[in-house]
Formats: sequence, C-alpha cells, structure tokens
Amino acid sequence: MYEDVPDPEPGPGEIVVAVHSVTVNRVLNCAVRAGTQQQRGVKPPHVGGVDPAGVVTALGAGVDGPAVGTRVAVLSRVPCLKCDDCAAGNFDACKKSCMLGIGCWGGDADYVKVPASIVVPIPDNLDFAEAAAVLRHGPMAYHLLFGVGKLQPGQSVLIMGAAGGLGSTGIQIAKQEGAIVIATAGSDERVAIGRELGADFVVNYNKEDLTKAVRDYTNGEGVHLVYENISSPDTWPKALACLRKFGRLVTAGAHGGGKVALDCAFLYHQQLRIIGSTGNTDEDVRRTIEAAASGKLKAKIEKIFPLSAAPEAHRLMESTIPTGKIVLDPTLG
Ligand SMILES: [Zn+2]
Repeated sequence: MYEDVPDPEPGPGEIVVAVHSVTVNRVLNCAVRAGTQQQRGVKPPHVGGVDPAGVVTALGAGVDGPAVGTRVAVLSRVPCLKCDDCAAGNFDACKKSCMLGIGCWGGDADYVKVPASIVVPIPDNLDFAEAAAVLRHGPMAYHLLFGVGKLQPGQSVLIMGAAGGLGSTGIQIAKQEGAIVIATAGSDERVAIGRELGADFVVNYNKEDLTKAVRDYTNGEGVHLVYENISSPDTWPKALACLRKFGRLVTAGAHGGGKVALDCAFLYHQQLRIIGSTGNTDEDVRRTIEAAASGKLKAKIEKIFPLSAAPEAHRLMESTIPTGKIVLDPTLG
C-alpha cells in the first residue's frame, strides 16, 4: 500500500534521512509483507526497508552530526536508545535492539528516522543505490569470511550461491584478500557470474558432484572454509563434505529450507567447526565502504523502481531469481 503518513520528527539521539535508495529483499521485504515471517514480530501497520541510503535532513536533541546535507547509508541494527547500555553510548551492547524495517519502521519511505549512531557517511563516488547494495551484504561477508571464518591469504574457500548477494560479495572480497576462491551455484548462468567476479574455479552443483569437484580441484585435500547462506538439505551436506581437516563452515541464511542432515562422524573425525553468525563490526562496515569507493567491491543493480512502484518491484523479486539488487528510489516518485 502506498499512502501518506506524517513525516518523522527526530527524537533525542535520532536523525532523519531523506531516502534516495533502499533494496528489495526476498525474505526481509517480500516474505515480511506476505506475512510468512511471523516469528520476526512485525506489527502492522508497518513500513519495511532494511538498508536505506540518502541525505540527512534533521538532527534530534543531543546529536552533533553528521550535518544536515551529508550523504549517508543507514545500518540495519537499531539500538533502543533507552537501556543502560545505550545511555552509556554502548549501542552495540544494546540487548533490545531491533532490525530496521522489521522491528521498527524502515526506509521504504521518503523519510526515515533512525538513531544517529547507525548512519555512516558515504564517499562522493559511491551512488546511493550502490551504497545501499554493498552495505546490505559487505559487512556480513567480511565478518563471516575473516571475523569468524578466520580465512587467511593463500587458504581456500568454497562460496555457496555464487550469484546471490552474499555470495557475489564474498567472492570479490575473498579474492582481494588473497584467498583461493571456489564458487558454486545451481545453473551455468549463475556459475558464470561467479567466474566473472574472480572465482578461480566454479562448479554447477546441479550438473556435477560438488564434493568430488571441489576435492579434485584441491588435490583431494578439501577447502579450509565453506561460506554458506543457503541451508538447503541437498547442497549443505555436500558443502560440509568439501572441508579439509580442521576446516570451518560459516553460515548466515536459510532460504533453502534451513533443516539439513549433519554427518556427525565426519564432523568430529575431521575436527570441524560450524559457526553461525549474523553480526558485523564497525571495522567490517569501514572495509566495505573503502572497498566499494575504490572500485574493488561492486554491487550489481538489477533495476531501480520509484517507491510508488514497490508492488511491481516485489513481484519482480518474487517471480525471478535476480542476479543484482532490486532497488527502490523514493525521489523518483
Ligand atoms: Zn538499548
């Protein structure tokens, strides 16, 4: 539904951003709108939009920056601004935080009101759509690969979902950091995207045996790290079986189903670690913006719609598997 609501007024610690770009996501937008994500506790009437970027238009009490007119991107984790941790400025420690556009109104609007602590200035050479798109996946990709995955230069990583948002981001940054990148997807077209993004070796898991192909490529040893965000019962066990001794599997995503079989004997004999994570650090955000500004991390934009065409944008997302981000731009109408 597209309708007028009062413009938001910033409270203490908050700022208002005029939205120029916000991404459309299969789960965080479409499924939430369709009402199939009840566990997320969305209360209608609701405004979605998890990752807006735009221009600061108003500062609330006690906020001394970024100045009105600054181009910013908004991060998704919203601190409550009311608990003792928030009062002490420890916003990352807030236990009552929510996700923007899920637990509170988000950026699918002309204006969004957010805590000043979750906006980051964006460089002049990064447009709003790119900023929203790279920040959707970049910080989590850095966090999964290096923060929890401990990937080192020269080590090998298997990236699942080569053409997806998190997968395509992971391929680019793992390559830049000197890793050997194997990328996999379920079609030749999507595998080719992984190759274009810099993967050293690609596998179509619907045509080849993923485990055998990866083991053959790594001289039988397997990879140091599996980077997973599908959680499909078909591909997850095959991916885990690609790990070498002491390998790690990092995961953040379950759109493939979420329930998978685990070979516990392989797990303990190989002394593997499986690590789930959703977070990221300020350093992950900084690295993402720096990589995007220098052209080392690119986000593919599938199509930009006016905000008023959000239903059409959702339909496109629901009827296809796009290889780039679908974006809404409220300044277009
Ligand atoms: Zn708090």
